[in-house]
Amino acid sequence: MKKLLSLENLTLLGIVAGIAFGYFLPKVALELAFLGQVYLALLKMLIIPIVVASIYIAITGLSGIDELKSIGIKAFIYYLSTTALAVTLGLVVFNIFDPGAPVSVPETTTHHVASAKELSLSDFIVSFIPTNIFEALSRGAILPIIFFTILFGIASIHILPQKKQTLYNFFDAINDAMMVIAKWIIALTPAGVFFLIASTVGKNGLDPLFSLYSYALTVLFALALHAGVILPAIAYIVGRFNPYRYFTQIKEAPLIAFSTASSSATLPVSIEVAEEKGGVDKKIAGFVLPLGATINMDGTALYESIAVMFIANLAGVDLSLSQQILIFLTATFASIGAAGIPGAGLIMMTMILDSVGLPTEYIALIIAVDRFLDMFRTSINVWGDLLGAKIIDRISR
Ligand code: ASP
Repeated sequence: MKKLLSLENLTLLGIVAGIAFGYFLPKVALELAFLGQVYLALLKMLIIPIVVASIYIAITGLSGIDELKSIGIKAFIYYLSTTALAVTLGLVVFNIFDPGAPVSVPETTTHHVASAKELSLSDFIVSFIPTNIFEALSRGAILPIIFFTILFGIASIHILPQKKQTLYNFFDAINDAMMVIAKWIIALTPAGVFFLIASTVGKNGLDPLFSLYSYALTVLFALALHAGVILPAIAYIVGRFNPYRYFTQIKEAPLIAFSTASSSATLPVSIEVAEEKGGVDKKIAGFVLPLGATINMDGTALYESIAVMFIANLAGVDLSLSQQILIFLTATFASIGAAGIPGAGLIMMTMILDSVGLPTEYIALIIAVDRFLDMFRTSINVWGDLLGAKIIDRISR
């Protein structure tokens, strides 16, 4: 009985019940949407302190620069190769299924695009560096914060050992306290996801999923292939562990990712389950997961590649091989640059459309299904990070 009422099962129940509730009682679901927002806000509250503290103690807790280099290089190779695989898979699956869709270009096109800022690669690179770390902290600009924290951590390795220890203890204590709060919030998960899902379904209904079904199915199929076959194969071959068993240990995190559509909001949970249930070393989880939540997004990368090809199809543009290679490169960058928040992938898509010369207005074509696909791709993003942490843990022993 206790097992049946585990947090994971209750969370799953919350998702299913939330879909039904939002579908049958959309008005009530929308009235109660603020309860989902409360849960989300509680999770978000922890992001910045956890990112800073966990990356800092992960770096300074290592035995030195060599160990940092070794873990850093492994993480980098894992992030980049799995992202590249995801984009490639997206392109291959798209070319096989070739989903042309029964939709007409919405009238409201231009209206939507006003909110989608155009991004260039050079802006993106400059934005890595915080000009004022406190401003970056208060704005919650994750990439600059990570950049600064990594430098700060590396610098601390070079100062007097007693001083380094003082800083280490300080951040370690912050981290521990944050994880205690995280546990409290995690206990609220079943109710939190119930209200989040109910209001999403209450707002959008289930229809959008059907209106662009061929496109949505292509994305979902490719995501399933990546998450269920390709990533597990890497885990099995490189990490030499059973990925499916590992999934049952950490499934809480992908479920929360599904309900929140935010890798960053899921981060406190990812760290907690990886360490407590998945047996990942604290130093590795503390480094690989916060970084991964920000830059490693397989689901997003895969989705970007399919979405752009789909848009080109609808616009009647035939993409050449060199344009597809451009998509490969920009989709990889776009997924790295996308923040771990709902809808970030869609915004980054302007960069890819721009690179192959498609008007950014075309984003409006796929907006209807975006929130649904976002839930799935975010789960895959988080699953990819968690597998990466375990793989790196295994090969570092
Ligand atoms: N919502 C995704 C995430 O948080 C990013 C995206 O929009 O693809 O991982």
